[in-house]
Amino acid sequence: MSQAIADSVPDAAVAPGHLYVVATPIGNLGDLSPRAQAVLRGVDRICAEDTRTSGLLLAHFGIQRPLTAVHEHNEDRITAELIGQLSAGRSLAVISDAGTPLISDPGFALVRAAREAGLPVIAVPGPCAAIAALSLAGLPTDAFAFAGFLPAKSNARRERLRELGGAPHTVVVYESSHRIADTLDDLVAVLGEQRRVCLARELTKKFEQSVVLPAAQLRDWLAADVNRSRGEFVLVIEAAPPSDGDRAEHERLLRALLKELSPSKAARVAAELTGARKNELYALALELGGTAPE
Ligand code: SAM
Repeated sequence: MSQAIADSVPDAAVAPGHLYVVATPIGNLGDLSPRAQAVLRGVDRICAEDTRTSGLLLAHFGIQRPLTAVHEHNEDRITAELIGQLSAGRSLAVISDAGTPLISDPGFALVRAAREAGLPVIAVPGPCAAIAALSLAGLPTDAFAFAGFLPAKSNARRERLRELGGAPHTVVVYESSHRIADTLDDLVAVLGEQRRVCLARELTKKFEQSVVLPAAQLRDWLAADVNRSRGEFVLVIEAAPPSDGDRAEHERLLRALLKELSPSKAARVAAELTGARKNELYALALELGGTAPE
């Protein structure tokens, strides 16, 4: 192990008065990290979204700690009591049913209150469906937005898709099995047939699948086999294509810059000035006849 890595390995022991935000598997139990296990074993109490669901996970790893339910219906009410425990030197972990707490899951009120009370909050990172899907989609990751679940009603969902889909960055959303088909219909209607979308289902599980297709083809792919609508879903939506106006402006700027600069430098300067992606500006610079990479 290099010294830099050795220095960065924290002591697995749990410190008094600390709140640990611990990520748990999103399907594959092998994804509960050794550090997560050590922390869950070491804390005085585990705050779980659903004590029965988490009880099964903890039993699988032979972890026996007192559990307190912390979910959307009681989080505000129970937070003061938990902050009292932390202030008295007890260590707590917060976990959700699956993945990273606070990411479309409970935990926010407790973490915010701990911060406001000046108590130490430590992340024990691990699985997160949004990040897993983003990492496998092959869509740009340099800038992205996570938007949680879309609204349940079609009108509101279309409105939200219009907002999200106009942005110049990748968008990640969660979706459930009973809405996935309707959401893809709305996506085609609002963002067009050609917008590329990655559908990732059942990540880390037996029937894991991920496909990246233009929206209309993805809708047909889903409809072709009823099994494809089962399970849990993440959609990763490609950024809005630049408008004709943007492209004309980028061309004008690049033509001027290319008189003095190489394509890669011109793309870098243009990216700084416009906020557009450097890779796309570089491709455009080459199209405009800038000389090849230096
Ligand atoms: N906190 C979790 C995380 O870090 O991913 C997310 C919790 S949210 C209540 C549950 C949603 O996450 C599901 O409806 C689905 O959209 C997504 N999800 C969770 N596990 C997944 C999996 N194994 N494959 C695909 N999507 C998943």
